[in-house]
Amino acid sequence: MVLTEGTFMTDDQSNMSSSASDPVVVEGIGGAPGIAIGSVHRYRLPPPEIQQRNVDPSDVEEELQLFDDAVSRAERELEKTHALAQDQLGEEGEALLEAQTLMLQDEEVLGAVRQRITENHESAAHALSSVLRAHRRRLEESEDDYLRERAGDLEELEARLLQILQRNRTVSTVQPNAIVVAERLTAADLIRFHRHGILGCVTTKGGETSHVSIIARALNLPAIVGADTALDVVANGDRVILDGRQGHLIVHPADEIVESYRQRRSRNEALLKSKTEPDDHPTTTADGEVITVQANVEFGETLDSLGHLGGDGIGLMRTEMLFLSGDEMVMDENEQAATYRKAAEVTGTHGATIRLLDLGGDKLFSLPGNEANPFLGWRGIRVLLDRPESLLRPQLRALLRANVHGALRVLLPMVTQVSEVERVREMLAEEARRLDTQDIAHDADLPLGVMVEVPAVALQANLFAESVDFLSIGTNDLTQYVLAVDRGNDRVANRYDALHPAVLHLLRRTVEAGEFAETPVSLCGEVASDLYALPVLLGLGLRRLSVSMPSLPEVMHAISQISVRDAEDLATAALSASDADAVRRTTRDWCRECYDADLTMDLDN
Ligand code: PEP
Ligand code: MG
Repeated sequence: MVLTEGTFMTDDQSNMSSSASDPVVVEGIGGAPGIAIGSVHRYRLPPPEIQQRNVDPSDVEEELQLFDDAVSRAERELEKTHALAQDQLGEEGEALLEAQTLMLQDEEVLGAVRQRITENHESAAHALSSVLRAHRRRLEESEDDYLRERAGDLEELEARLLQILQRNRTVSTVQPNAIVVAERLTAADLIRFHRHGILGCVTTKGGETSHVSIIARALNLPAIVGADTALDVVANGDRVILDGRQGHLIVHPADEIVESYRQRRSRNEALLKSKTEPDDHPTTTADGEVITVQANVEFGETLDSLGHLGGDGIGLMRTEMLFLSGDEMVMDENEQAATYRKAAEVTGTHGATIRLLDLGGDKLFSLPGNEANPFLGWRGIRVLLDRPESLLRPQLRALLRANVHGALRVLLPMVTQVSEVERVREMLAEEARRLDTQDIAHDADLPLGVMVEVPAVALQANLFAESVDFLSIGTNDLTQYVLAVDRGNDRVANRYDALHPAVLHLLRRTVEAGEFAETPVSLCGEVASDLYALPVLLGLGLRRLSVSMPSLPEVMHAISQISVRDAEDLATAALSASDADAVRRTTRDWCRECYDADLTMDLDN
């Protein structure tokens, strides 16, 4: 562990709590840049047991609302589980989901819970538990075998609803100036906390390209991940400084340190503002090469700000959030079409690359029958091809319809063989024909590309480049699969680096295959936002990059200072380096020479 200011902790001290007067610095991994100063809110989901029996009469309305929200959410969870896991559920599992869904629609049960909340001022959790338990007892005493078995379904439903209620309550008590510290956060948790106005978050697990970091960056929320001792050190209400670029959490900082971070924050904000004036000129390098710089987008809501940031459209729109964000489940074809239409409209002729749903890996979704290796399991295109009716075809139809309003492209995740692309192409044609016969407006001119994120695709890049309309390199996954390092595991995070020469060789190979087949190649992994990596990427021949939205101005600014001719020499040296550290040392020195003071100051701070 390392430290900047204050008293530093070593690993053996890490489980001691810090006293109020000791400044302590916990080191983690920078998850999303930015500085936040606030007070700690520890988040640990309590076990599903009832914490509170009664509420104040003035809270009855809020309690009723919490209950109604929990019921709707449980219904959506059940629907999602069903859509994804039909064939793993078997008859028994189907019956269980059905019984739970029916119970959630039973007005007698719901009315009884609401009555207890309104008349007895019981907490939603207590009322719900009492009602479901009474039902359970009746079922258990029944003569009928079938009804007796249903008692177990009720037990599961009670646990599910209690979990949801407690999660909602925990989130609703968080103060707007809080910095949430948790072991893990799901994407849905993070979005809910963000809506409550938190300033930043720290998790003890996770790595730089774990999904929670990506979501935090998209939300412009400073974050640290993999800060393994954070929960041992902080208490609720502790004043902390979160430095999301360095990955440092400073607990009980002295006033002078707070003041110096405030100044740094204002300076960075001013710097960023001065860089967010979009202009109509293309982004060019110092020696005049035009570079296409696009945005990675996670949420429909952020599309409005794209126009202010400049850039050349959307290079990656992840669609998992449409599915996972919990509060609004937007798998509905019409709602998807509306989001894609917006993406098409805001990007005009530049267009938007929409990636098909990439479920699995760390994009959390608890499925029955957990997998031992989810990153090597049922993920991305594999899920879609197994769920054509509920997932893949509706998404393809929504894209075909939205394409009337602009220039969309479809990107397939987690592909490993050309036959997968061909199957999707066939389905796309079938859906276009179906829309034709139904007289629904659509545009079938929809380029189809694949993510190069599994080594198999990079190794067969020649074949893929001939079979698709474009290639998009996903270094977040490619790195983990090449180096056998889990992208979300903080224990091995220091071994994870997209600048490892083995990864760079695959990038080079893919770029060459694209050049040969005249198939455009872009790169949309997080390494494209890493200013130290940029010259290496340009030197390898990449001319299209897609970066997280908040990084756009900084990346465009950095590109304008790089000479591609010089960067080619740097890339050649990187390809023959022995490891990622050696590459980083060389590129860091190179960038210090090349970037102006604004950029290096930002990097060094
Ligand atoms: C990638 O793997 O690089 C990528 C962009 O996709 P994701 O981070 O969503 O897996
Ligand atoms: Mg990926």
